[in-house]
Amino acid sequence: MALYLGKRHEWVVQSEIRNMSLECDKIGGINLSQGICDTEVPVVVRRGAQEAIDRGFNTYTRYDGLDELRKAIAEKQRRFSGMEIDPDKEIVVSAGSTGALFCACFALLDPGDEVILFEPYYGYHLSTLIATQAVPVYIRTNPPDWSFSLEDLKRVASPKLRGIIVNTPANPSGKVFSFNELDIISQFAAEYDLFVFTDEIYEHFVYDGRKHIPPATLPGMKERTITISGLSKTFSITGWRIGYSISHERWTKAIGYFNDLLYVCAPAPLQIGVTEGLNELNLDYYSSLASIYQKKRDMICDALAKAGLKPYIPEGAYYILTDISRLPGKTSKERAMNLLHKTGVACVPGEAFYHDDSGESLARFCFAKEDNILEEACRRLESLQ
Ligand code: PLP
Repeated sequence: MALYLGKRHEWVVQSEIRNMSLECDKIGGINLSQGICDTEVPVVVRRGAQEAIDRGFNTYTRYDGLDELRKAIAEKQRRFSGMEIDPDKEIVVSAGSTGALFCACFALLDPGDEVILFEPYYGYHLSTLIATQAVPVYIRTNPPDWSFSLEDLKRVASPKLRGIIVNTPANPSGKVFSFNELDIISQFAAEYDLFVFTDEIYEHFVYDGRKHIPPATLPGMKERTITISGLSKTFSITGWRIGYSISHERWTKAIGYFNDLLYVCAPAPLQIGVTEGLNELNLDYYSSLASIYQKKRDMICDALAKAGLKPYIPEGAYYILTDISRLPGKTSKERAMNLLHKTGVACVPGEAFYHDDSGESLARFCFAKEDNILEEACRRLESLQ
């Protein structure tokens, strides 16, 4: 047989996050590697979807999402950030924020366009750039505050630079970009005329009284920012695949047409469930999310510190980058496997978040777990001391 794989298969590989989940399953361990929230889905969201199926909402929707969902997203964005959005022309509901980012990059970038990616990065951001034939340009940030300067950005500027990805709150570092940092990005984006692709999926997971600032709300940023978010994390529905992009109407149609081509539409009854959640849940729901997850963060940071694995305390999102250099092994993968076999707790080797070997002393732990599971994971980690 002379058949062979297309060249594009080399652009994507199975993520280390999925690999560690498989290794964890083999030994029946506690999986703190993947960001699957197993916390409860709000009743109003579940009922909304169940009733929608029973009422016959089972066919295709408009390619960019149901009217009522786009209206609910626009209203939520207005409530939380003061952004005024036209729900008819400036929103595309997609297959999760992952689908939304892919459609945006596919529609707005040309092959060979350079896009800044802050490092450590979320692997899907890198893969999305590669799969859409954009070229990642890395800006290294370091613990504990993962900061950067205007000079860092200017150093990588070139005529090929077309965009920048801003993930706030960030996976894996937990960094919440400050107003000053976003201001630097907006000055830079204006000077070099760049798209700013955001990933704000953890917008409600911010700790210690911090506030999430959507980059599109900075002066002059609305037209060049593609705001991306979704409900996977906020409603604990990672498998439902509902996310969205918000952009100036100049960009929205092209993004929407790729969404139509790739996904046709997001799942119809699940769009209804999410709409009910957005319309019915009050501010208390969102603020209680932050306080519930802050307690989980504190619990696991404490256990990691007791185990002699220095945690870099996250400001937001639900991951902790941790220094695991004291564990045996030459690479982060060997150290993470050692931890898995000693304690039955799976984490993601730091190498998954860097394009070179800078992550070898790090690992990422996810704390989006029910308390009893997290408590058991903490007991096991503490047994390392
Ligand atoms: N963006 C980031 C930074 C994530 O960490 C994740 C999931 O772990 C996603 C996006 C996936 O979001 P969605 O389920 O909306 O595709």
